[in-house]
Amino acid sequence: MGLHPQPAPLAILSRPYNGRPACTHCGFCMGFGCEASAKSSSLVTMIPLAEASGRCEIRPLSTVFRIETDDKGRASEVVYLDEAGNQQAQKAKAVILSANGAETPRLLFLPESDRYKDGLANSSGVVGKYLMGNGHSVSHAAFEHPLNEFKSVQVTRIVHDFYENDPIRGFYGGGGLDARPFLDSTPIMHAMLDLPHGAPGWGREYKQMLIHYFTRKMAILGSTTSVPLESNNISLDPTLKDDKGRAAIRMTYMDHEDDLAMATFLQDRAVEIMHAAGADEVWREPVSGGGIQAHLLGTCRMGNDPKTSVVDKFHRAHDVPNLFICDGSSFVSSGRGQATLTIQALAFRAAEHIAGFARRGEI
Ligand code: SF4
Repeated sequence: MGLHPQPAPLAILSRPYNGRPACTHCGFCMGFGCEASAKSSSLVTMIPLAEASGRCEIRPLSTVFRIETDDKGRASEVVYLDEAGNQQAQKAKAVILSANGAETPRLLFLPESDRYKDGLANSSGVVGKYLMGNGHSVSHAAFEHPLNEFKSVQVTRIVHDFYENDPIRGFYGGGGLDARPFLDSTPIMHAMLDLPHGAPGWGREYKQMLIHYFTRKMAILGSTTSVPLESNNISLDPTLKDDKGRAAIRMTYMDHEDDLAMATFLQDRAVEIMHAAGADEVWREPVSGGGIQAHLLGTCRMGNDPKTSVVDKFHRAHDVPNLFICDGSSFVSSGRGQATLTIQALAFRAAEHIAGFARRGEI
């Protein structure tokens, strides 16, 4: 078909490294922790190193509900509930907020003092706005012979032939395709979510179908642009509370029509690939708006102008010189797929700058 599949960056160990073992190919990567510690989450990479330095203490199962400021408008302490539900406060020279695109703006919105009626670090009024995810499309196929897609890691090759914007398509956007079992790597997910539409849902036929498709089915996902729109946002719900009495998150989101067109375009290419590969059956999941689930980005956007952005190019809040926001909320565009590696790269960069500010007495 003239496409150019390429190895995907996995962040998974293929051989032992730093006291961690290699991947055992158990196939439980997606949606689960890795029992072997081969999948490189911060839980097994950075946090153990930080704790070993003797300068990092983890207080697990704590919930921050307020960032306090002093008379000079600087962040002074973080108020939180500890594991037992008792209120605690931690004084701070600097605060780094890393709760991503929904919880980060919520923490800034939670009332702190009359001085910040519209939220902390929000003189621009754009905290919570320009929420982005990534557009998605999903197509499934089943083949005559077993593929055994449930084995090993989920995605090893990606197609980026449609990554760039192309005016000939008639809409803005780009994205990537990846082939994977989708949710089929675990039997219960397979039984609940990944079967052909209209398939039997009970009895002997259902069991036969589970056996047939579990080894023979795969999916191709399209991951696309999400256009930043001011109307897509995170705010506080005026009435609902969470279990700790904090105002609940309210999300307002609808995809731009170009995002939906791009997702449909990639789905059409995915269906072509599956037919070319000789699939017995091909079926599509509907591409519909408002489907944001993960990759919450863009709600504390970065920029040089304090009137139109929340953090500067060093992730420092324009309004609060010792508050830094390091997560997906500083993005001004969504990229075209999974955002985690970009968030990690930006976090390393921000950490170097924050350490430099501290050394120079600028925090
Ligand atoms: S397949 Fe995934 S979950 Fe299983 S050991 Fe390898 S990295 Fe970990």
